[in-house]
Amino acid sequence: MILPAVTQLLVIQDRDRKLRQLKLELKNAPLEKKAMEARLTTASATLDAARLKAKEIEVKRKELENEVRAREDRIGKYEQQKLGTKKNDEYQAYDHAIESLRKEIAGIEDKELAWMEAAEAQKPVIAAAEKDTADTRALVQRQTADIDAKAIALEAQVTDVQADRDKLAAAVDEELLDDYRRLFERKDGLAVAALSNETCQGCHVKAQTHIVHSVKAAKEVTTCLNCARILYLEA
Ligand SMILES: [Zn+2]
Repeated sequence: MILPAVTQLLVIQDRDRKLRQLKLELKNAPLEKKAMEARLTTASATLDAARLKAKEIEVKRKELENEVRAREDRIGKYEQQKLGTKKNDEYQAYDHAIESLRKEIAGIEDKELAWMEAAEAQKPVIAAAEKDTADTRALVQRQTADIDAKAIALEAQVTDVQADRDKLAAAVDEELLDDYRRLFERKDGLAVAALSNETCQGCHVKAQTHIVHSVKAAKEVTTCLNCARILYLEA
C-alpha cells in the first residue's frame, strides 16, 4: 500500500512533469518559426540571385548592341564620305574601313548571340526559383499558422494542468509539499520514486532493510537514504 500523502504527491508530480513538458514545447514554438522564416529567406535569396544574373546578362547584351550600332553609324558616315570623294585611293580606304567594321560587327554579333542564349537559359532558372519561393512561402505560412495554433492550445493546456495541480497541492501538507518541490527541482523532475525489488528507482541504489520495511508499512513518509527521494512501494 501507499501512504495517501505520497499518492497525492505522485499525482502532483505527474502534473508537474506535464507542465514542464508543455512549457518546453511552448519555448520551442518561436524557434520553429524562426527556422521556417530562414527557409523562406534562403528561397527568396536564390530567386534574387537568379534575377540579378538575368539583369547582368541583359546589360552585357545591350553593351554589345550599342557597340554594333556605333559601328553601323560609322559605316553610314563612311558610305556618305565615299560618295563625296573622287580619288581612287581614298575610295578604297573607305571600302577597306567599312569592310573591317563589318567584320567587327559579325564578331560582336556572335558574342551577342551567346548572351541571348544565356538569357534564354536563365528563364527556366528564374521560373523554378519563383515557384520554389511561392511554394516555400505558402508552406511557411501554413506551418507558422499551425505553430501559432499549437502554442495557443499549449497555453490553454498549461492553464488547465496548472489549475488542477494547484487544487491537488492545496490538499497536501505544506511542509511535505515544500520538500517535494525542492526535490522536484534538484532531482530533475523525479521527487517521488518507486521502490522496486528493494531498489530506489530514482538512484538505483538498494535500500536498507529498515527503509524497505518503512515503505511497505506506509505509516510515514520515507525517503531514500542515498538520493533523498520520497519512496513508494511499486504495485
Ligand atoms: Zn534513491
